[in-house]
Amino acid sequence: MRISRGELVAEEAEHTKESWPENIVVRVRGPFYDVWTSQGVIRCVVRGALKRERRREDLVVVGDRVEVRIVGPGEGVIEAVAPRRRALVRRARDREVAQVIVANLDQLVVVLAAAQPELSLGMLDRFLVVAESQDLPTVICLNKVDLDPEGRARAALAPYRAIGYPVVETSVVTRVGLEELWRMLEGKLSALAGPSGVGKTSLVKAFRPELELRIGAVSEATGRGRHTTTASELIQLDERTFLVDTPGIGVLHLWALLPEELGQYYREFRRYLGACAYRDCRHLDEPGCAVRAAVEAGEIDAGRYERYRAIYQDLEEEAERQGRWEVERLRRERRTR
Ligand code: GDP
Ligand code: ZN
Repeated sequence: MRISRGELVAEEAEHTKESWPENIVVRVRGPFYDVWTSQGVIRCVVRGALKRERRREDLVVVGDRVEVRIVGPGEGVIEAVAPRRRALVRRARDREVAQVIVANLDQLVVVLAAAQPELSLGMLDRFLVVAESQDLPTVICLNKVDLDPEGRARAALAPYRAIGYPVVETSVVTRVGLEELWRMLEGKLSALAGPSGVGKTSLVKAFRPELELRIGAVSEATGRGRHTTTASELIQLDERTFLVDTPGIGVLHLWALLPEELGQYYREFRRYLGACAYRDCRHLDEPGCAVRAAVEAGEIDAGRYERYRAIYQDLEEEAERQGRWEVERLRRERRTR
């Protein structure tokens, strides 16, 4: 069934994933969009009127659910795009505007290695801040646990479990945890993020050995130009399970965040935020800070708090560099998606 413009608006009000078309954009190559449908992958162009209605950078991206009209064998036209439930955005490289990387992302999976490379909690915290700021559920995958028989990395992640982040421990070598990870991925569109060398490609291969993986090669494949940083491909693990490895996410810095909002993105800080002596408390050195009191009382992990201070400083420098006004503008753009 085709969705007329009027019906699309009605769907927007409902916003339920179930009512979306099952067709999903899995690849973008120039003017062509490969759409996975129950009849296989259809190569599509976008209906002209749709192009005029939507902003160029937001036209159609991987993860979009679309209505397709078949016009020939394996060929179609995208007639309508379902409202996006969530869009992961980043700043375009050559212009200071938000750009959609992937639509309808269900969750972020941060992959870290128990060893080789060494566990970086600073990087994990940055990913978590980005995810929280975009209301994106996050799973932490600790891979290469075969290299950590004493469980040191597991212990280092205990504070994250305590504040409610699911942690799944895996090893591609011993295959421990792979089923558990699969259950977390199944039926969802997940973004895999994490430093290189932690085993992201190996994990995908463990699920789908026959896939010719292009992970890490996406940005080369799309070449130069304004869309270089846009994820251009989804990896399909089964009919309902998709992954995106965006070149963007690896470098998804904390943009469009003001330092004073950072505390909101620490879920374990939230219950203390109203209790600080100053309404605009930065939770650094202010007297009567409830967050710091909670750290001293052992209710908030001291390591997380120390890294909060470091990230706060980074954001301050960034706001200084870009100008606060610019950050405010980017924030507004982020909010309207
Ligand atoms: P990516 O850069 O995150 O995609 O990482 P790769 O999948 O390319 O893996 C980097 C290296 O780690 C490769 O040499 C893999 O064989 C190795 N590796 C991946 N997973 C595991 C694991 O669970 N245990 C061990 N010991 N090595 C692994
Ligand atoms: Zn405070």
